[in-house]
Amino acid sequence: MSQHDLNWLITHTEPRASGMIHQLEEQGITHSELLALMGNIPRHEFVEPAFSHLAYSATPLPIGRNQTISQPLTVARMTEWLLQYARLGRVLEIGTGSGYQTRILAHFFNKVHTIERQQSLYQQAKQRLSSMGVNNVEHLFADGQAGWPHRIEMDAVIITAMASKIPLALTNCLKENGILIMPIDHPTPQIGCWRKEGDRWKCLGNESAYFVPLLEGMEHA
Ligand code: SAH
Repeated sequence: MSQHDLNWLITHTEPRASGMIHQLEEQGITHSELLALMGNIPRHEFVEPAFSHLAYSATPLPIGRNQTISQPLTVARMTEWLLQYARLGRVLEIGTGSGYQTRILAHFFNKVHTIERQQSLYQQAKQRLSSMGVNNVEHLFADGQAGWPHRIEMDAVIITAMASKIPLALTNCLKENGILIMPIDHPTPQIGCWRKEGDRWKCLGNESAYFVPLLEGMEHA
């Protein structure tokens, strides 16, 4: 990172976030715009209030309804893969949760489509992002395994909950050469990045990470 970038980062970073940003750099995150963005987003507003003092720590945290926000490194790694490999047009996210990852995607992609199966999390995330002035996100309360309802082709699909196999509807909506990011649980829990090449999937990266499970159906408030 250049001295100019570093100075910009230091003056724009939320004071509590600077330790998190330094740690991400030590862990190998190099994209300066991403680091600056994560330094700016008030992560404490996305977690359960009782845990807000831990919001910038290297740990997953509760966001309500027995769900968790991923630790900062996992969020940064998934985003870095997208920045490196995906066309930044349309992205589909399964598992809006708190909306933290959605907020980051919205900065880089033209359009974000995000689906959440838990009604109160869906409502909170929608309200949170709109109050932050984010206006390129479409939220849907649904079971994300069915994909986006209007058959829109996506440049990337990111699944932030662990499935034993990938729902067909999600691979079908991905363009040729589109990027898929999803957790897998074998041989150990990890997150991976793949490129769709015809009927083959080329693995572009993977890293150890834990995710809550992808669940069936919808859950009302
Ligand atoms: N990316 C989120 C964290 C997600 S936790 C964040 O930044 O906060 C995983 C989320 O996936 C949970 O909110 C859970 O309710 C949701 N989820 C699980 N199964 C789902 C499904 N089938 N469709 C849509 N969302 C699902």
